[in-house]
Amino acid sequence: MALSTVINDPEVDVAVLGLGVTGGIVAAELSTKGHTVIGIEKGPYWQHADDFAPVKYDEWGVGFLHKFDHPLRISTFTMRNTTTQFANPIRRYTPLGQITPMGHGVGGMAQHYAGAMGRYGPWAFEMASSTASRYGPNFLSTNVPTNDVEDWPMTYAQYEPFYVEYEKAFGLTGINQGPLVPMSQNYPLAPHPATALAKLFQSSTEALGYNPYPNVTSLASQAYMNQYGVQVNACIYDGWCAGFCNYQCETGAKANSAYRTVPAAIASNNFTLAVNSYAFRINLNSTTGLAESVSYYDGAGNIHVQPAKVIYNGLWGFNEIRMFALSSIGTQYNPSKVTGSLGRGSTDAGGSAAQPTVSGTVNIGGNAYPSGNASGGAYAMYDLADDNYDHTGKNYIGGWGDPAEIGYGGYVGGLSNGPSNVTILAGGVSATAAGSGYKAALKNFYLPTSQPVSMTPSAPELPDTRWNVDLDPHYNDMYGDPLARITMDWTANPYNGAVDLLPTAKTILQKMNASNITTNMGVPPGTLHLESFEPHHRGGMRIGTNSSTSVMNLYNQVWGVQNVFAGGEIANTTGDNVTAGTHVAGMTAYVAAEGIMKYLSSPGPLA
Ligand SMILES: Cc1cc2nc3c(=O)[nH]c(=O)nc-3n(C[C@H](O)[C@H](O)[C@H](O)COP(=O)(O)OP(=O)(O)OC[C@H]3O[C@@H](n4cnc5c(N)ncnc54)[C@H](O)[C@@H]3O)c2cc1C
Ligand code: SF4
Repeated sequence: MALSTVINDPEVDVAVLGLGVTGGIVAAELSTKGHTVIGIEKGPYWQHADDFAPVKYDEWGVGFLHKFDHPLRISTFTMRNTTTQFANPIRRYTPLGQITPMGHGVGGMAQHYAGAMGRYGPWAFEMASSTASRYGPNFLSTNVPTNDVEDWPMTYAQYEPFYVEYEKAFGLTGINQGPLVPMSQNYPLAPHPATALAKLFQSSTEALGYNPYPNVTSLASQAYMNQYGVQVNACIYDGWCAGFCNYQCETGAKANSAYRTVPAAIASNNFTLAVNSYAFRINLNSTTGLAESVSYYDGAGNIHVQPAKVIYNGLWGFNEIRMFALSSIGTQYNPSKVTGSLGRGSTDAGGSAAQPTVSGTVNIGGNAYPSGNASGGAYAMYDLADDNYDHTGKNYIGGWGDPAEIGYGGYVGGLSNGPSNVTILAGGVSATAAGSGYKAALKNFYLPTSQPVSMTPSAPELPDTRWNVDLDPHYNDMYGDPLARITMDWTANPYNGAVDLLPTAKTILQKMNASNITTNMGVPPGTLHLESFEPHHRGGMRIGTNSSTSVMNLYNQVWGVQNVFAGGEIANTTGDNVTAGTHVAGMTAYVAAEGIMKYLSSPGPLA
């Protein structure tokens, strides 16, 4: 094996690790404001016209072989449910979707997300203090004894301007969501046309006194130009991205950094793009304790040492925790002593795979938008989310659910209705899935007159003192560095919330004139276990006001290593109902970008 060459690169103001949603925002904000920036991204720069459009119907290659996703042979993670278990490595994307594919290339995971968005409401940011003041100081510790919930360091009102910036950059669709989620500006793009089912949900919930709104998405409902001057194509409603695993969009209508923010960074002429480049260390100066450079492997196997005044870690989820652990940044969390902050407060987004569900069938006539897209066309509401109803006497906090706002009536093939693509609809390509039965199944699927409906309420999964992310002592990535090890399982809060909300879900289905309504009580936590991980890794590198329980301050600046910042859902301190965690991750990336600019003009701790 040839020895790799070490290349020492010239210093930049900011080195951004990972060019997904958050890294792209930081790169665009800093470079367009005159700072030199390098983006270090392990995958390529996918071009929707060249890479995605020609393979539009290659469901096998895209959905099963994951040709655009992170290659697990480079690195993966290990998983266990308790600290006494041996953690096993996840070595493949097991169909059907046992592990959600991780991002690879500019755009990151959002190259194939559903694009369902939705702000966290004000309660999410003050979950701990608000619960204590409304229901007493012992409510949380009595009902969720192992919770590790902390308030965010700022309130909804303080975060609101940063929400607006993200919504403009990504071109979110929707309308003002009313007083439960106060908005200073409307979403920049109009909602996608509602389906017949969504309209039925809207009229039925309004009749019950609720306040439904068109589902918020990041799939462009019209062509537009964002605040960086990046021109965006409109969705053409071909339904491709609504297929299994939310296939990559061939027009760029699905918002991600490759088609919203990184083009602005490139146009600034202050930006260097290092693709196919795998970052493996943030190097600290042994005298000052500050970060001085990043080490990464380029596509040819050379090691680059990239000096920077500031480093932004946007590698997503446990990758970020792992990078800090490998670089001796932060104090590793110890779940038995409940000390340390790195890896602490980790949580998943939703409840168990076997949550209580109520199902039925409604008559809708022909669906007016038979293809649609992955997350438009639905209606959603916040009335039963957060603490928007009285929790006195209940054994959980937060509300429905997952999605948070109840999103309902998405396009056939969309979020609420399962996959649209042909192969998976018929259960795969096989002799039994061919012929007239197959055609009949397709017709019923695409041109239904009645539609099966189900609702699965779920209160939020909360940060828990038992869960943790650390370095695995047994398994390494392809370069020999330890993998991240996740210790996590489902908890009672989502299940308890679901049991409580199930009668309400049934009432809504009854109001929608659903027939054959059945209720499935699912199974409580402890019966089934979390086997893998999904894309909403929350907590683990929290922002906060207390350096002993959080890794970063309110500007996403690392306590003690002032020139390192990080972002993404892992900065979340509370967990929350809203599935659309990318919305809040994008918003906090703008906070981090502002922090980095403050630091560059006046280095030092910002809080
Ligand atoms: C199938 C699917 C559906 C989803 N649906 C939704 C949805 O409807 N709504 C929603 O809000 N969210 C959804 N998500 C989640 C959403 O995609 C992520 O929350 C979001 O993309 C995360 O952004 P990020 O910037 O934190 O990380 P990412 O977008 O993952 O970006 C991280 C980047 O870092 C790079 N990287 C990692 N390690 C290294 C390394 N060592 N060196 C260099 N580069 C590295 C990666 O290649 C990647 O490009 C979905 C995700 C999936 C997979
Ligand atoms: S339906 Fe719209 S967002 Fe989805 S792949 Fe097609 S153009 Fe892109």
